[in-house]
Amino acid sequence: MIPISKPILGEEEKEAVLKVLESGILAQGPKVAEFEKRFAEYIGVKYAVATSSGTTALHLALLAHEIKNGDEVITSPFTFIASANAILYCGAKPIFVDTGEDFNINPDLIEKKITQKTKAILVIHLYGYPAKMPKIIRIAKKHNLIVIEDACQAHGASLNGKKVGSFGTGCFSFYPTKNMTTGEGGMITTNNEKIAEKAQLLRNHGMKIRYYHDILGFNFRMTDIAAAIGLEQLKKLEKFNKKRISNANYFNNNIKTKGIILPSVAKSYYHVFHQYTIRISNESSKSREEIIKILSNNGIGSAIYYPLPVYGQKPYIKLGYKNRFSVTEKYTKEVLSIPVHPSLTQRDLKKIVSVLNNL
Ligand SMILES: *Cc1c(COP(=O)(O)O)cnc(C)c1O
Repeated sequence: MIPISKPILGEEEKEAVLKVLESGILAQGPKVAEFEKRFAEYIGVKYAVATSSGTTALHLALLAHEIKNGDEVITSPFTFIASANAILYCGAKPIFVDTGEDFNINPDLIEKKITQKTKAILVIHLYGYPAKMPKIIRIAKKHNLIVIEDACQAHGASLNGKKVGSFGTGCFSFYPTKNMTTGEGGMITTNNEKIAEKAQLLRNHGMKIRYYHDILGFNFRMTDIAAAIGLEQLKKLEKFNKKRISNANYFNNNIKTKGIILPSVAKSYYHVFHQYTIRISNESSKSREEIIKILSNNGIGSAIYYPLPVYGQKPYIKLGYKNRFSVTEKYTKEVLSIPVHPSLTQRDLKKIVSVLNNL
């Protein structure tokens, strides 16, 4: 079976973990500090704050920016639920905007959703493709809004040479399916010293001096075991991303099935292909469900990211969300992600193309 995703962990990661175990310092220690330093350098920001997951990175980033009860945060409904949940955790209200042709938030629709209560725009760089940041930053500046980037799928993606996670306050995940992993883990990136300090404080129970708690905080810390894995993965990230891109190019050049729409990359966008996502349009001879079955019968994994918009998920319906965006709805019915991860062999690539071209 060719899985839809697969982490690549080598001897380097194993040795690094053993060293941490031997050191006896297992959490929020020197490896975490080193990982933060290297990750900040890589993204091109002054500060990085390691967390226990991408979800807690988002939650902390919003809290550090003082997003609270009564605030509204504009975001995309076409994402993993954690993006919007983080807004709810702060007591604030996610305000959804329909998706653009790039699967990210459509910036042309943002301004009419801005009210007196709007505090921030939470952008998601879905599938590893940067959202339209120049326009989003312009809107945010004009209306004095905070920009939070959910870059949980976009480690190393960039726009005009500037990495995502450096436009606003960036949030990353190191879950095993992502472009790099630490098992569980996350990171906040920022150029704002105050935000970094606030996030550090909130991450560790509001504690600067041991057992003196200045504010109500959390335990969202990263372990040194995770950080040691992260440091090794970060060294390999560029290589991993290049292989993902080369796999995607192979698909783009070779999949020629009627009714299947392939992902495109605009000029000056660096897409790191966390997912390679095709759309099965109504001109396809087979339905999405039939294609999933055919792929599976041929030993090829695939997945739908995401079958429901966030506003259509049960907790959101319960909260009274009634959005029904045409593009988002269409994409939830059309998208299908096929394996693009760096451990695919030439044989795997050929097989995937051949199955799709012979539907
Ligand atoms: C993975 C992911 C998250 C959450 O990260 P975890 O580390 O799983 O908590 C948030 N947003 C998006 C878009 C993701 O893909």
